[in-house]
Amino acid sequence: MPIRALVWNENEHEKSNALVRRLYPDGIHGAIAKAFAGDAAVTVETATLDMPEHGLTQDRLDRTDVLLWWGHMAHGKVDDAIVERVQKRVWEGMGLIVLHSGHFSKIFKRLMGTPCSLKWREAGEVERVWVINRNHPIAAGLPEYIEIEYEEMYGEPFTIPEPMETVFISWFEGGEVFRSGVTYQRGAGRIFYFRPGHEAYPTYHNPQVLQVIRNATHWAHNPAAPWRSVGDAPNVPHDKAPVPLEVKGPRLHADGEEGYR
Ligand code: ZN
Repeated sequence: MPIRALVWNENEHEKSNALVRRLYPDGIHGAIAKAFAGDAAVTVETATLDMPEHGLTQDRLDRTDVLLWWGHMAHGKVDDAIVERVQKRVWEGMGLIVLHSGHFSKIFKRLMGTPCSLKWREAGEVERVWVINRNHPIAAGLPEYIEIEYEEMYGEPFTIPEPMETVFISWFEGGEVFRSGVTYQRGAGRIFYFRPGHEAYPTYHNPQVLQVIRNATHWAHNPAAPWRSVGDAPNVPHDKAPVPLEVKGPRLHADGEEGYR
């Protein structure tokens, strides 16, 4: 069964800015979806903020193996209940790929638990995305570095938790550096943050950038059945312990009590 990818985009710059519309006539989501053209192992759909429930109904998320997220000017318009729904699916095992300015999305900040702040500059400078973890599946097929002629600068310190793995570090023409490709696991779900992709530049037409997105989708896919009970905290009675035991000493909680959340 193919990996079911869903590309989510707020799709706001495309509506309000002629430059972005010219670069991405099918929307940024449309350009990202093209990463999977010719990859028979992935089926791809798209969803946008203005759809009912932002196109992220429970049913749709249940049919999604890997969710890709592009957001920027409309982070605040994303409904908290839907963010919670996405978080639960990540905990259950859905993969999540957060792109570029998605570092400040509600879903990424919530899953990271840190400010996710960074330095930035919009000067159309060269970005060199260095592959520092050459055997990582997300870097498969890439040369030593990807050179992007025009990009926005993101600079350290990037206030994320220490990553599980760092796959890419970017150098910028102006001198800053940035951890551009980092992995995490939250619950049963794999997460990859990938930096390039400013809306004013044609980054999502770069075949190597699309290769990273395709590789990351394969990497983030968890083929196991969803871990629906991942958030449960069962009270295991003493006589049902793997080695049954007698209760000793005082207890605060009664048998079968659910406990506090
Ligand atoms: Zn940007």
